Amino acid sequence: MNEQAADRREELAGALAAVRERVARAMSAAGRTDEVTLIAVTKFFPAADIDLLAELGLRDIGENKVQEAAVKVAEVHLRDRLRVHFIGQLQSNKARSVSEWADAVHGIDREKVARALSRGALEHGRILDVLIQVSLDEIPVAGRGGIRPEEVSDLADVVGQAEGLRLRGVMAVAPLGADPRAAFERLRTISGQVREQHPAAVWISAGMSEDLEAAVSAGATHLRVGSAILGSRPSLR
Ligand SMILES: *Cc1c(COP(=O)(O)O)cnc(C)c1O
Repeated sequence: MNEQAADRREELAGALAAVRERVARAMSAAGRTDEVTLIAVTKFFPAADIDLLAELGLRDIGENKVQEAAVKVAEVHLRDRLRVHFIGQLQSNKARSVSEWADAVHGIDREKVARALSRGALEHGRILDVLIQVSLDEIPVAGRGGIRPEEVSDLADVVGQAEGLRLRGVMAVAPLGADPRAAFERLRTISGQVREQHPAAVWISAGMSEDLEAAVSAGATHLRVGSAILGSRPSLR
């Protein structure tokens, strides 16, 4: 390993340890002894960083730009050690690509996308773990994705019956300018409603670098953390 890679490895190891510590503190503050999965969101960062994270013991990575991810995931040497999550809103015309390289998809918010993903999964002989994205914004914001809470149950039934898809739970992004804790509590309630019909849909994907503590306290099972692990994204520097 060259010097630059060794420096980066050390940087990632330190940031990952700090995030794990935050998660552990939040779990203990919430009195939780169950498992929480930390997904490192690697969008805009190179495949080499993903390999370093895999060497550091991380098992889950998240991507949300379809074209970037399709190329990058193919370059990861330690792909077999990782579960790759597509996170965020997905367009139906990109579902086929995602069905090829993602293991889990957090962000189904329309029947059309669910059907396209199901077709892709069947075509590639794969089974995908799928989460429904719920909008927690009081007033829908264009481009943020997510279905309205009252529509979740119908979409859950569609996903639950789609071949090649396994309904795993719900996902949300904290609303803009509102208390993330209250929003994530609403997500927890919605998760409970979905589980009445789909008992295996136990994943709650919530919480990012800024609000992971709020998500842990509201029962999140999957945290999607980017900048706190990888640093500020190259395009934003
Ligand atoms: C980028 C992204 C994240 C990670 O955000 P950070 O603030 O960098 O932790 C989480 N979820 C989704 C859907 C994202 O697009």
